[in-house]
Amino acid sequence: MTKHIFVTGGVVSSLGKGLTSAAIGLLLERRGLRVRMQKLDPYLNVDPGTMSPYQHGEVYVLDDGAETDLDLGHYERFTNSDLSRDSNYTTGRIYLSVINKERRGEYLGKTVQVIPHITNEIKLAVRKLASPDVDVVITELGGTVGDIEGLPFLEAIRQIPLDIGRQNCLFVHLTLVPFLKAAGEVKTKPTQHSVGQLRQIGIQPDVLVVRTERELGRENAEKIALFCNVEKNAVIEEPDKEFSIYEVPLGLVEHGLDQLIVDRLGLKAGPIDMSEWQYLLHKVRNPEHEVTIAVVGKYIQHKDAYKSIYESLDHAGIAHSTRVIVKRVEAEELERGDPHSVLGGVDGILVPGGFGMRGIEGKVDAIRYARKSEIPFFGICLGMQCAVIEFARNVMRLENANSTEFAGDTPHPVICLLNDQRKVVEMGGTMRLGAQACLLEPGTRAADCYDAERIVERHRHRYEFNPAFRERFARAGMQITGSSPDGGLAEIVELPDHPWFLAVQYHPEFKSKPNKAHPLFVGFIEAALAHQQQRVQMSL
Ligand code: GLN
Repeated sequence: MTKHIFVTGGVVSSLGKGLTSAAIGLLLERRGLRVRMQKLDPYLNVDPGTMSPYQHGEVYVLDDGAETDLDLGHYERFTNSDLSRDSNYTTGRIYLSVINKERRGEYLGKTVQVIPHITNEIKLAVRKLASPDVDVVITELGGTVGDIEGLPFLEAIRQIPLDIGRQNCLFVHLTLVPFLKAAGEVKTKPTQHSVGQLRQIGIQPDVLVVRTERELGRENAEKIALFCNVEKNAVIEEPDKEFSIYEVPLGLVEHGLDQLIVDRLGLKAGPIDMSEWQYLLHKVRNPEHEVTIAVVGKYIQHKDAYKSIYESLDHAGIAHSTRVIVKRVEAEELERGDPHSVLGGVDGILVPGGFGMRGIEGKVDAIRYARKSEIPFFGICLGMQCAVIEFARNVMRLENANSTEFAGDTPHPVICLLNDQRKVVEMGGTMRLGAQACLLEPGTRAADCYDAERIVERHRHRYEFNPAFRERFARAGMQITGSSPDGGLAEIVELPDHPWFLAVQYHPEFKSKPNKAHPLFVGFIEAALAHQQQRVQMSL
């Protein structure tokens, strides 16, 4: 029978609940268990796809085209859990489903209420992931205990043990024990209050994972155990990590969390093997090289807006024993001055995806600078579209060439909407989304990186390279090196005469893992290292 772990958070948000949940998934997999991961988000958007990255950071896209919370990125990077549309539910999606059922008359005249109809719908969403080939479902609840909007979810997970047996469920609560400078000590009271709130709802946590900036100490751990009604060995300290997020799972193993879970849930598990992660961490701690990559974007100030891109750069760095320093460049800043003053000295330039007009000209300037100064360039989604625009304007001399997203009346619409997208009126879930195949042109840089002829990558965009311009670009020196299987859509462009200039219409960053860096990121960092070497040699 599938067991369930529920991860809630208290005291403050941004404690790294997603990372901790992913780490728990990893530990269980490392003990030979089959895990499935899920996130419940208590906001009313049906999915995060319609939200600005300023709200919740990046929108993470799955193979099936689901637009999900970025915590699912942690799940995919840390575990082998199959993720799908069923792995992320929001309040909005739950309500939509209940209201649709009500409209179809499925409640047979009953008054439709939060309890039991909404809570039943939530329970269904959780239990859907249980199956004979899954040992443990880990469900993370977004938000913080005490939020009004989280209540139906807490109520639903409170009920699940009644349906399937308390012994089959484990509640993990993540809290913060702050260090008060003025008092010179750590404070356990917020944790006590947050657990108190959970218990009021009827949930007694089994395990407390306590985030700390200063060591908790035995006495405090015992105090928390006593006041929160959990066993002493179930107060697991998770200190701030200095180096890397890869320390998180190793720290949890050190504190015995995997064994605790295995014992509590009565799981049949093998011994733990964390050697691969220890090796990863060793490489992160002892880099042999260092490169600086400029990421030129629009949502640069938000820590998580390009989360998967930053992670993928790290992964590729690990593959090359290289520390990747990211220089976050606000695209608009480039519009105000000479790009050299900002980008001079970087080893590679990456322009990520995005929407809307702001910063476009700055991105185009950055790409022009990369092209002319022969700095390795990697364009992703909007980054590819900007590379096409830059090439059209500055090499092909197509004045005012643009994407129709930014200039509906451009004389040279090198990026535009193609047939299917022209008819779309609704915003949510209507982009070109999810995994799609792409055929690679043999002998190109793309084919070389992937070492394959056919790849599958995830998309999230409306606009495309305008096929009417295909021939002209090829003649001018921008090659299309990856296309949709029917040949209609350009997925990758390259400049063969440049040391490394490659841009893709899809999002490779969603498929990179710490122990399996994405081939294009690996190629990009390799080129950045080569560029750095060359620069050093030239300055000698
Ligand atoms: N705004 C562009 C489009 O919709 C690019 C999207 C993206 O970068 N994800 O096609």
